[in-house]
Amino acid sequence: MEVLARIFDFAPPKHVTEALADVARSDNVLLHQYTKEYGHPRLVNILSKLYSKLINREINPDTEMLISEGAQQALYNIFNGILDYGDEVIVIEPFFESYEPMIRETGAKPIFIPLTHNGSNNGCVLTTNDFHLDKKELESMFNSKTKAILLNTPNNPLGKVFNMEEMQMIADLCKKWNVLCIADEVYEWLVYKPYQHIRMATLPGMWERTITVGSAGKTFNITGWRTGWAYGPAGLMNNFKVIYQNSIYAHLTPIQEAIAIAFEKEFDLMLNNPKECFFYTLSEELFTKREFLMKAFVKAGLKPIQPQGGYMIMADFQSQDLKIDLSKETESSKDIQLTKWLARKGLMGFPGSAFYGTENKHMAKNLIRFCFIKQDENLCAAARILDELFSNK
Ligand code: PMP
Repeated sequence: MEVLARIFDFAPPKHVTEALADVARSDNVLLHQYTKEYGHPRLVNILSKLYSKLINREINPDTEMLISEGAQQALYNIFNGILDYGDEVIVIEPFFESYEPMIRETGAKPIFIPLTHNGSNNGCVLTTNDFHLDKKELESMFNSKTKAILLNTPNNPLGKVFNMEEMQMIADLCKKWNVLCIADEVYEWLVYKPYQHIRMATLPGMWERTITVGSAGKTFNITGWRTGWAYGPAGLMNNFKVIYQNSIYAHLTPIQEAIAIAFEKEFDLMLNNPKECFFYTLSEELFTKREFLMKAFVKAGLKPIQPQGGYMIMADFQSQDLKIDLSKETESSKDIQLTKWLARKGLMGFPGSAFYGTENKHMAKNLIRFCFIKQDENLCAAARILDELFSNK
């Protein structure tokens, strides 16, 4: 059995899957044909209503909201729409591993800046709140070639939720250097108390220069439905639309209709009965899972980094070096050796160095990322494997 790989085994809300079944059975034949390019009207309308409320500004569903084939495709199209050969994009490490190849493919150059911590938290478990951007280092990366900065909050793989001071520092530099912000906020609802998600587009002067990316996959546990979106000022969305029109033309109609129905329900709950709203209940449910897995790692003598958001935990394996015989592993990087060794024991993770640029891969040599959006029985199985492998009996 392999547990804790990155694929979820956790069901979406019933009303979401029922919406898709209803659409499939509907007599409305138009729901099985091409829909409007850039976004099915029912979906762009409800998403524009939702985000207008969340960012306190009217979003135009026709010009400022665009539906994509997952957040992945939104990012790909944004990079291809706005980046030219020789442009620079500032990327904060550790980062979602797709950013680097997507940026490089356009001829632009990613410029990496790592989040750093001082190595201890007074003997307590390190949290992602202990990871910071160095202001001077960040300032030194902006120059006349900088086209954009990528801000992923809550961040994958760490789960860091950027605070107002950090967001303001980024916003001020964007304005100073006339730089765009690509705000990847796919984990916007997955934030653990007492932390709060801040949307970059809400900071003064940032709507004009921000494209925000979201994901139905992350919102409703339906990653296989491959639906995401981007919103931002019409002028910035235009290039993105050209790429879109000439690649997929329009995203799947029945899937968009079902997701629109799901959002209509949750938007109503958000306004009238937030305790029942999935946007909030999911993170409450995941909080317990996070705590369970954190304890299992600590018991096994590892150093997990407690995430403020998302559903991944990075764990540091350095303390267990002596117990693991990696002599038969052939990969040059230690985190990959560790990940393969663990996979053979039944525990699947993702090697930490995948989330760093070449120069800083060494920072992750003992780090492996695990996913905890899992059924409890699989988390228990993971805890058992960790116990068997590492606990001193
Ligand atoms: N951004 C981040 C930070 C992600 O972690 C992911 C998926 N792992 C995506 C974007 C892509 O999301 P989607 O599944 O909607 O394409």
